[in-house]
Amino acid sequence: VSDGGNKKTSRVRVAVRLRPYMNKEDEKSEGPCVRGLDSQNLEIINWRNATETVKYHFDVFHGEQTTQQEVFLSSVKPILPHILNGQNASVFAYGPTGAGKTHTMLGSSEQPGVIPRAVREVFKLVKAKDASDGWDYSIGMSYLEIYNEKVLDLLSPNSQDLPIREDKDKNILIPGLTHMNISKFADFDKHFVPATLNRTTASTKLNQRSSRSHAILLIKVVRTQQQLPHRQQTGKLYLVDLAGSEDNRRTGNQGIRLKESGAINLSLFTLSKVVDSLNSGTLVRVPYRDSKLTRLLQDSLGGSAHSVMITNIAPEYKYYFDTFSALNFAAKSKLI
Ligand code: ADP
Ligand code: MG
Repeated sequence: VSDGGNKKTSRVRVAVRLRPYMNKEDEKSEGPCVRGLDSQNLEIINWRNATETVKYHFDVFHGEQTTQQEVFLSSVKPILPHILNGQNASVFAYGPTGAGKTHTMLGSSEQPGVIPRAVREVFKLVKAKDASDGWDYSIGMSYLEIYNEKVLDLLSPNSQDLPIREDKDKNILIPGLTHMNISKFADFDKHFVPATLNRTTASTKLNQRSSRSHAILLIKVVRTQQQLPHRQQTGKLYLVDLAGSEDNRRTGNQGIRLKESGAINLSLFTLSKVVDSLNSGTLVRVPYRDSKLTRLLQDSLGGSAHSVMITNIAPEYKYYFDTFSALNFAAKSKLI
């Protein structure tokens, strides 16, 4: 299997977002363990010796004051026009549980995140094009979860593990996955909201499952030429709220949790190798096939795709080790 070879592959942009303190008292008593230096640089402060710091450089650093709108405008909006032209894109939120991944991707009704903003923007872009450029556009969605290396359809109750396939043009597909046509934001909301509620309700019963699985929303734009030969192109956008990146060995998990931890470690470790090899160009083989997550995203990460990873981190000292490892994960491919 060739994974690029002489094809030019695009970099994965790496952004870091620091969330504010949740409790002002903690802020007063300890001070943050990470400090922004400017819009691309930050430092982590050693938990034993505050004069000892490690500096990191990223494509973008979003400090704790950054709004949902600013994150969207800087990291996500610029890549959306490509999916109308038959290209693929992906946005990931990475980081430890509690650092703000779901806030960044989903947000709340008062502070909507990347997902609702991106979906609204895709509708807006398609509407602006409608009929004026010789193509007809249609938009669809799928919504799935990868849990314990199983692919589960969030739009279909009692979904079983679904197989991932590759067609002759190297497009990745999941044949059994529900695909819903959507023609306005309300259509999207109607499918997305109950599925998300279901997932989070189930998670409180099942050991915080939502922080131990990857939630993946797929928005697909298909365009068809109005003139013969009615050529068709498909652009895919993956919006991913990844499982928590915390080190599960430290928390002493056993049994089912240990199995989950193994699956999470496998997929996040493989994701880091994929991002690393795309960004440094040193690995001959991009190891997409080593986990379900990277296999699924193979045609939407690297190659001609446009990808951004938003690494979420928290300021409290209790997150120190998880923050340190999240920054190292995200910075690995960067020149420091
Ligand atoms: P994760 O999904 O990574 O586990 P959450 O998104 O659930 O983390 O965030 C944990 C808590 O912090 C939530 O109560 C969330 O509303 C809050 N939070 C996260 N990021 C921010 C932010 N940038 N501004 C304000 N509150 C935030
Ligand atoms: Mg979450």
